[in-house]
Amino acid sequence: CGIVGYIGANDSKEILLTGLEKLEYRGYDSAGIAILNDEGVNVTKVKGRIAGLREKVDASVQANLGIGHTRWATHGEPSEDNAHPHQSASGRFTLVHNGVIENYYEVRDEFLDDVTLKSETDTEIVVQLVEHFANQTEDVLDGFRKALSVLKGSYAIALIDNTNPDLIYVAKNKSPLLVGLGEGFNVVASDAMATLKETNRYVEIEDKEIVLVKRNGVEIQKLDGTVVERESYVAEIDA
Ligand code: GLU
Repeated sequence: CGIVGYIGANDSKEILLTGLEKLEYRGYDSAGIAILNDEGVNVTKVKGRIAGLREKVDASVQANLGIGHTRWATHGEPSEDNAHPHQSASGRFTLVHNGVIENYYEVRDEFLDDVTLKSETDTEIVVQLVEHFANQTEDVLDGFRKALSVLKGSYAIALIDNTNPDLIYVAKNKSPLLVGLGEGFNVVASDAMATLKETNRYVEIEDKEIVLVKRNGVEIQKLDGTVVERESYVAEIDA
């Protein structure tokens, strides 16, 4: 299982697909990507191989922001509906997740009583919860923080908001996730292997941190909003 994300000036589809292929060694049963441009978000998912995803992706849609996922199912059988990315009820938020949300039933019963879930995954409650809190606070970052603060378990998350094609929200707890730095673009990946074609400069993310990934920079924050400064390093591995 693995995550990859790209925000920059180029079309994101090939970067995501190549990245997911590099993550295939981690194991997966389904895969998907979501790309976002001024017209909105475009989600493609398949059960099975990345090669199948590659065939299904609409080559005519261009977008210079995107997130991708290979899934190793823990909650809900391997299927197209359960494949990531998952979307919130209104369709505004789209998210990929690696890990396991341990208190998924409790969260669903406490906060998402009025939401009709579209999948059997623990992951879907994360994106629904972001929408729930973002609606309450009218601030997405605040909503994302609130959602993370009630979740228990492991996660590497990348989240996009239809109304903001200039930002990927990222968070991590007990699942691997790195941010890769480029000139006019940035990437996120479970493993530097996925994005070495793009950059060899990376920043580590620690547990319970949020990263705001934009085209021209990244900002790491703790869950309470405190900004974290961290040096990047050059990954000494061959693509
Ligand atoms: N628990 C999530 C699911 O079953 C994510 C699994 C993964 O890490 O790929 O969909």
